[in-house]
Amino acid sequence: MTIRSAINPAWLVRHLERVRESVRPTTLAEVEKKRDPFRLLVACVISLRTKDAVTAEASARLFAVARTPEGVAALPEGRIAKLIFPAGFYNTKARQIRAIARRLTEEHGTAVPADREALLALPGVGRKTANLVLGLGFAIPAICVDTHVHRISNRLGLVATRTPEQTEHALEKVLPRRYWIDINDLLVTFGQQICHPTSPKCSSCPLAGRCPRIGVTRSR
Ligand code: SF4
Repeated sequence: MTIRSAINPAWLVRHLERVRESVRPTTLAEVEKKRDPFRLLVACVISLRTKDAVTAEASARLFAVARTPEGVAALPEGRIAKLIFPAGFYNTKARQIRAIARRLTEEHGTAVPADREALLALPGVGRKTANLVLGLGFAIPAICVDTHVHRISNRLGLVATRTPEQTEHALEKVLPRRYWIDINDLLVTFGQQICHPTSPKCSSCPLAGRCPRIGVTRSR
């Protein structure tokens, strides 16, 4: 179910941009500057359940050795696992990354497809990763909903949803398309700095005046 929020999207984005300007870019935002959908896709797989700093170092180690689908497909799975260690589930991710590289090489002419269904058919790629690659890799408007986007959108009352996929569809109704690509990085940064999963910093939050704090039981 979608609810109408008192928060104006332009006002929200303006405040989130100010928070982001004051901190270091996220790893995926840094990788995005290279304009390489394959590296973005691989970094996104590495980032799942992994801290941002670990993702940055693991991605850099892998890309220093191989940065194309052919190059990564040629690496033994164990080598990839060693390169991305200590990313969470590094053995599983190494298997997925190599399988993705092989599929791209064998079925997509070594290119990452700019199509959601084709991305979702790749090993280990879910809606979150597919939408991130569409948005940042190809500039196709798509909302990447991770744990930060899901949590904060509900706390702010932008949406009233139970799952990330429901949040994606609800946000599509309340956010103008021009914000769809950037909202992930804005809310991830905001979630890491202020609106933490447990005990958000409501007393120093720039959104506090208009945030209904839905579901927040403990804050600082
Ligand atoms: S007021 Fe608290 S719950 Fe609301 S956005 Fe800010 S930190 Fe998050």
